Amino acid sequence: MQSTNIGHYLAHGVTTMRRDDPVLYEILEREHERQRNTLSLVASCGGTDPSVMAAAGASIVNVTAEGYPGNRYHAGCTYVDQAERLAIERARKVFGAAYVNVQPHCASFANHTVMQAVLRPGEAILGLALDQGGHLTHGAPANLSGRLFRSHTYGLDSKGLIDYGQLREQAREHRPRLIVCGTTSYTRTIDFERIRGIADEVGAFVLADITHIAGLVAAGLHPSSIDAAHFTTTCTFKQLFGPRGALIMMGRDAATVSDDGKRSLSERIQSAVFPLMQGSPEVHTIAAKARAMGRLLEPGFRELALRIRANADALAAAMAARDYQVVGGGTDNHIVLFRVRSSINGLVAQAALESCGILVNKNKIPGDLRGAQVASGVRLGTNTAALRGMQAPEMALAAELIDEVLRHTGVGAGGEALLPEPVRAEVSAAVHALCQRFPLPYDGAIDQAH
Ligand SMILES: *Cc1c(COP(=O)(O)O)cnc(C)c1O
Repeated sequence: MQSTNIGHYLAHGVTTMRRDDPVLYEILEREHERQRNTLSLVASCGGTDPSVMAAAGASIVNVTAEGYPGNRYHAGCTYVDQAERLAIERARKVFGAAYVNVQPHCASFANHTVMQAVLRPGEAILGLALDQGGHLTHGAPANLSGRLFRSHTYGLDSKGLIDYGQLREQAREHRPRLIVCGTTSYTRTIDFERIRGIADEVGAFVLADITHIAGLVAAGLHPSSIDAAHFTTTCTFKQLFGPRGALIMMGRDAATVSDDGKRSLSERIQSAVFPLMQGSPEVHTIAAKARAMGRLLEPGFRELALRIRANADALAAAMAARDYQVVGGGTDNHIVLFRVRSSINGLVAQAALESCGILVNKNKIPGDLRGAQVASGVRLGTNTAALRGMQAPEMALAAELIDEVLRHTGVGAGGEALLPEPVRAEVSAAVHALCQRFPLPYDGAIDQAH
């Protein structure tokens, strides 16, 4: 076997794209430069390893493989079956799951799929409100989940913690068939067992969407939802550092027979992914998921996860030391959420920081009077910084730079961010130097190889 088949194929693709499609090639090159030279503190970003990208770029993409391993609708699926079985086996090991489906195209689809598997249109669901950190697919009115089902919400208390009392009240009042937990901006530990207890009281299923914290769950740094919830979903590209795509997982309820009296809950998920919701799987993405799961099983991943956590603690402490109000009083995961000074808003803060190469996102905070498009808070996350090898001193520097920018930011007549040019130039230079000192891991590897 020639071990360089895919290497030739990929290298040839890059060479011919550069020659035949310089416009697109230039866009992709510039995007890479942008990633290299900016400090990404966007909590929903990770960083995909080149070996994962290589798997996603392999010629396995040419296989159409409707169905599941051993039961496909087309010939030629020997290796696709092997790749899918490998992805499943590794994901089961990573998360300690009894059942894993690796075919969902994204976490949004994964959530819809779980709902389609166990709910009928018009039944009640209960999810964290969108403006409290819930996801669109947890029942927001703008999303199909909010249109197909009678959607009720719970929220956070004044300290920014999940209001389990309210969750229970809502559950007892509305008797939902499904309770959804998991959030996009929550900084504290989610008590999955407690939510399951409430669900059992009212006869509801629990869907834990652990997209944001999946890496910490995999590393044992956040309690697992796998056995506590009936269903766990996660995307694979945020904290799992894999390709864009998702997983649906189950633990102790995988074999539980559901109320049709025939099929187990995992069998219902299996047929809900295909043929109910999806057609042929993205087999190249499944190969890339297998590679990503392989990396999660390597010892280096736990170190990365520990660094993600330590960096978040350092960042939260440094922001608090600079008199920013940190929501929840700190963090148990990779997210730091803070309130901006009252003279500016989240949108302006995000724009001012981006003009200096610091990438964040505006975010609503508990009790926020501003809408989500403007917001009074900023959300930070440490996944990418930790991937670059940054540690506590760099997080202190990041906080210093953020503060330097925000202290000098004003709001123009048209609502735009105003930042004095000398401050912009000084902070930009510091960000650039920091990025040079902590290159993306693969850039470092390539430099060393030369
Ligand atoms: C990002 C996110 C999603 C959406 O994932 P996609 O794969 O982009 O559909 C779903 N749920 C949560 C909690 C998220 O943070």
